Amino acid sequence: MHSRRLVAATLLAACVANAQTTMATTADELVAAAKRAAGSDHAGTFLRICIAPDNLNGSPRLPPARAVPDRATWYAHPYKVFDNLYFLGTQIHSAWAITTSAGIIVIDTLFDYATEPEIVDGLSALGLAPKDIKYVLISHAHGDHDQGAAMLQSRYGAKVVMGAADWESTLQRPASAPGGVPKRDIAVGPEGLKITLGDTTVDVIATPGHTPGTLSYLFPVRDGNRTLTVAYSGGTAFNFPRAAQNFAIYRDSASKMAAAARAAGATIVMSNHTEFDRAWDRVRIAQLPRAAGEKHPYEIGIESVQRYFEMMRDCAEAQRLSMN
Ligand SMILES: [Zn+2]
Repeated sequence: MHSRRLVAATLLAACVANAQTTMATTADELVAAAKRAAGSDHAGTFLRICIAPDNLNGSPRLPPARAVPDRATWYAHPYKVFDNLYFLGTQIHSAWAITTSAGIIVIDTLFDYATEPEIVDGLSALGLAPKDIKYVLISHAHGDHDQGAAMLQSRYGAKVVMGAADWESTLQRPASAPGGVPKRDIAVGPEGLKITLGDTTVDVIATPGHTPGTLSYLFPVRDGNRTLTVAYSGGTAFNFPRAAQNFAIYRDSASKMAAAARAAGATIVMSNHTEFDRAWDRVRIAQLPRAAGEKHPYEIGIESVQRYFEMMRDCAEAQRLSMN
């Protein structure tokens, strides 16, 4: 009797703990769960990956190499966003500089045409020195994030950090590829890596899915006398080959990142596409004076960060189930 009651209580506890996953068992239920998780704060990402995802009709090819688009459609001014974090992105893609006591860590490098005006000139405009770039972290090997890596490596001697699987695809590119090909440098395996520069450590987490070598990050930002933790999601769209196994890998990485973000107490989520974290709005809102006690526009809280990754997980699982 006692043991049966214990079993029932244990089952109930497990059910409550896993309510998000155990209650939703069909693709439609998972999309509904993802929509609830997204709320109004992550609606853009929900729309992109849960509603008619990019690979719905097979495996879309990446956009072909193209001429430089009209500058007015992409150029963005650089901004100081936290005391140690600077936005160097375009209106569409993000690149960031983390300043440390021993130099600069750059996260993502944009298309090659944007690297010089946004990252090099952007740092100079902000009073920072491009020669102080020590590390370049590439979230994944797609041209919109990695085409500046070779130049920053060769010109400033920065170490380039990439997922091991994404190094493999990068090194197969022809030398004539836009932005050139970086030399093999620091490769991150499934176990992840910590990159420490001076007083700052970036926790590099392997989150395969968007690409086999996608990396996500946890790192500290300072907002006055407070230190907050950013969970940086390194790959989002479903534009990988449409296979059940790929969605399972993506789903598991989202769960892994949710757990890592919770353990680190992350209250901020960032992405490498401005559409997913509204970076192009938030970095400008961050320039406005704040009332006493008003939060930084990027600070959304632990639960909202969790809901972001739960949404990613449920959208991937919904697609996986819909294939059966
Ligand atoms: Zn990509």
